[in-house]
Amino acid sequence: MRDPIFTKASSTPDATSLLKSLAFQMGFDLAGIAPASKADGFHHLTSWLEKGFQGQMDYISKRAPAYQHPESLLNNVRSILMVGYNYKHQIDEESKSGKGRIAKYAHGKDYHEVLWEKLDLLLQEFQKTFPDCKGRGVVDTAPLLERDFARRAGLGWIGKNTMLINKKAGSFMVLGALLLDMELEPDQPFDFDHCGTCTACLRACPTEAFMGPKVLDATKCISYLTIEVKTEIPLELRGKINDWIFGCDICQDVCPWNKKSIPASDWNLWRNPDLESIDLVELLEMDKATFKARFKETPLWRRKRKGILRNACIALGNTGGQEHLKALEKARLEDEPLIKESASWAIEQIKRRLGL
Ligand code: SF4
Ligand code: SF4
Repeated sequence: MRDPIFTKASSTPDATSLLKSLAFQMGFDLAGIAPASKADGFHHLTSWLEKGFQGQMDYISKRAPAYQHPESLLNNVRSILMVGYNYKHQIDEESKSGKGRIAKYAHGKDYHEVLWEKLDLLLQEFQKTFPDCKGRGVVDTAPLLERDFARRAGLGWIGKNTMLINKKAGSFMVLGALLLDMELEPDQPFDFDHCGTCTACLRACPTEAFMGPKVLDATKCISYLTIEVKTEIPLELRGKINDWIFGCDICQDVCPWNKKSIPASDWNLWRNPDLESIDLVELLEMDKATFKARFKETPLWRRKRKGILRNACIALGNTGGQEHLKALEKARLEDEPLIKESASWAIEQIKRRLGL
């Protein structure tokens, strides 16, 4: 394992140093402590929700009050260890007809599982020295404003693309939190914003999903459309999705901080060549059992076969040719209305392009 980016942990056997040192031993690239006080970005969340930018992600509005303070997640919480796990890896980014693209974070194992396991282990190790300490690991699915707490823990700033950016690690990083009922020495919050006059991410977004710096209308974002939307994807946005079938990396790929950031330390964890450029016809031809066998252990399983095949049809509608019509005609005969509808749409798009 290479040296951690932050090396604040010292040999002093105090709780804060021990916790950070354990975090780096677990392979996390960044680790910092934030006090478990009221979330300072809560008012941004409420105003974002009022505008309806969460779309079908009702779970955010339903539990909105819980985001206000981390005590909703752990009784008597005092401190939060925020960790970052870098997943940057280089892949062939070029779009190819008949192939679908997947966001980099989803090229390997499901990061939720990986981080939960590491945080659980971290807590167990910490409790060997501090057995009375109670804790809870959180990765994305609980009501915690993780990027805000990561900024407060000194890990980086929130960029105009709404991602947490670290000067060395960039933003291709998943975040995790370990909430503890123990007072720890907090890090200095990261108060500087290194985006400066850059607007590359805002300009590069194909669906114009940014309403301004740091304000994302998720209902237009390809990540939301391909992963969160369970129904038909709005017609006016389908063409802009291009060949993405699970997530989108564009507003991170163009960020200058990611051009010079260091690559992932645990390459094998984040790379499954099978998931880097998927053959869309092969995908359409997978029955339920084959789909499950191939993707059960991957992030794509979250959207299940009908969602991924819907996305595959749309990607083929945007990039496919005559050679893909047969597979789409077959998909149009599926029982699942979502697949039928998107296959019909794709056939129309290809035929119109080819003048058939
Ligand atoms: S992930 Fe893609 S669609 Fe979403 S905001 Fe970024 S560039 Fe736009
Ligand atoms: S692309 Fe530019 S504006 Fe966007 S997050 Fe990166 S540095 Fe900030």
